[in-house]
Amino acid sequence: MSPSSIIARKRDGHALTRDEIAAFVRGATDGSWADYQLSAMLMAVFLRGMNAEETAHYTDAMMRSGAVADLSAVRGIKVDKHSTGGVGDKISLPLAPLVAACGVPVPMISGRGLGHSGGTLDKLEAIPGFRTALTLDEFVAQVGRVGCALIGQTRDLAPADRKLYALRDVTATVECVPLICGSILSKKLAEGIDGLVLDVKFGRGAFMTGLPQARELAATLVRVGRASGKRVRALLTRMDQPLGHAVGNALEVAESVACLRGEGPADVMEITSTLGAHMLVLGGVARDDAEARARLEAALRSGAALAKFREIVVAQGGDGRVIDDPARLPQARMKELFVAQRAGFVAAVDARAVAFAALRLGAGRERAEDVIDPSVGIAGIVKVGERVASGAPLAVLHANDDARLAEARALLAEAFTLGDAPVTPEPLVAEVIGG
Ligand code: URA
Repeated sequence: MSPSSIIARKRDGHALTRDEIAAFVRGATDGSWADYQLSAMLMAVFLRGMNAEETAHYTDAMMRSGAVADLSAVRGIKVDKHSTGGVGDKISLPLAPLVAACGVPVPMISGRGLGHSGGTLDKLEAIPGFRTALTLDEFVAQVGRVGCALIGQTRDLAPADRKLYALRDVTATVECVPLICGSILSKKLAEGIDGLVLDVKFGRGAFMTGLPQARELAATLVRVGRASGKRVRALLTRMDQPLGHAVGNALEVAESVACLRGEGPADVMEITSTLGAHMLVLGGVARDDAEARARLEAALRSGAALAKFREIVVAQGGDGRVIDDPARLPQARMKELFVAQRAGFVAAVDARAVAFAALRLGAGRERAEDVIDPSVGIAGIVKVGERVASGAPLAVLHANDDARLAEARALLAEAFTLGDAPVTPEPLVAEVIGG
């Protein structure tokens, strides 16, 4: 079974066997397939697709390409959440401690910013001292002791994905449902979870802009995850305007802390409590949505969720004082209001335009080797439906560099649409799959 014969079979539209898929994934892991052969295979899959069985075999082979965490010593049903990525999507920060405070262990392995979307790891690293690079043993021990750990992908976890993801990024093969499914689920299944709630985003600020594609991805993730014996649900959520009022790493940590104090923006709180309620039901600590929401509310009101976040931060070497005093987070040197040129109702806030403005300020990476500035970003972003006066702020730019500030200001000018008629935003959660 040579690489070229397997590539040719997929090129010609045949379904691959489990052994052929295993050979491809092994080739990515041990270097026995050259990058040009892996890339050709990725393009063949992109163009010809994979059926349900092939996608399940691919995901399984990707997961088994490296270590799989053993969380069997941790009591309880372990449940994680995964988002396909959005703008201002800081949901993991309030959600993980909130769910852990309700008694469901949350082993969470997250990623860095990808393209225009922000990454949980980059946000957490805005907290002075916070270590996201725990070993798998430290990760397992912390989930047992604290009930939650928030780390980055270790070198030994799903190594085939690291290789294939880098190739997909430069060969125009990212937007492909079976490849995305294998990439996401291989990493999540290797965490040792029992359950997973997926937040599949669609809209201007998402990778999958259309609802039908997002629905197909969500259904595939639920089907393949369940075939691996896990409890899985997926929410389809709208990502047209940024989530919350802040985009940028330290700014989003501060907004997350506000959520855990019960003072978060309505949209962030809605997504957090909806995902959290599904996690509590999958985790077996609540019978239904109403009971789960009551438990989440109690953990917020009592301060237990905030205390859990502090415990996680301190356990991972971070400065726990930022929880009580977010002013200890990195602060940008310049703050500039971005104001409305006319009065009106906010009809749209283009999440992608806001993301590119934040990226220009240094909140994300434009090239892989770029170093993130944790202090910069855009705060105070108005929400669709708000009424603004002429000259009133639409956002606040936090910057450390004059040239970058000027470019971000120009990019932000494209982000806001003001109209004369009142606007009612579309519901955030469009559908639940597998609920
Ligand atoms: N996130 C991943 O981890 N992989 C993909 O392929 C897409 C989004």
